Amino acid sequence: MRVRHVKKGDTVVVVSGKYRGKTGRVIAVFPKRFRVLVEGVNVVKKAVRPSEENPQGGFREQEAPIHAAKVRVLCPQCGRPVRVKRKVLDDGTKVRICNHCGAALDS
Ligand SMILES: [Zn+2]
Repeated sequence: MRVRHVKKGDTVVVVSGKYRGKTGRVIAVFPKRFRVLVEGVNVVKKAVRPSEENPQGGFREQEAPIHAAKVRVLCPQCGRPVRVKRKVLDDGTKVRICNHCGAALDS
């Protein structure tokens, strides 16, 4: 399964699960695992081994990937999480458009 509805840099809204209603930017997409990394969502504490830079070790907060089906693009036009349609323009470029208002999501 491929992640086609969102991509890196998008502002998305989480629509199910623990983080429902949260908005954030997509930091990374992992197509093989059908997961996305969203800024500020699913932040976990990771143990850090002591290093030269950080001799004490300890914990570092970092986002963990969530399932891509849980996020929807926030449409700048209608301001809500929407599903995405795809359209091929006359010059052959593919764009994503809002399924609700028809606004282009890719510039
Ligand atoms: Zn829209």
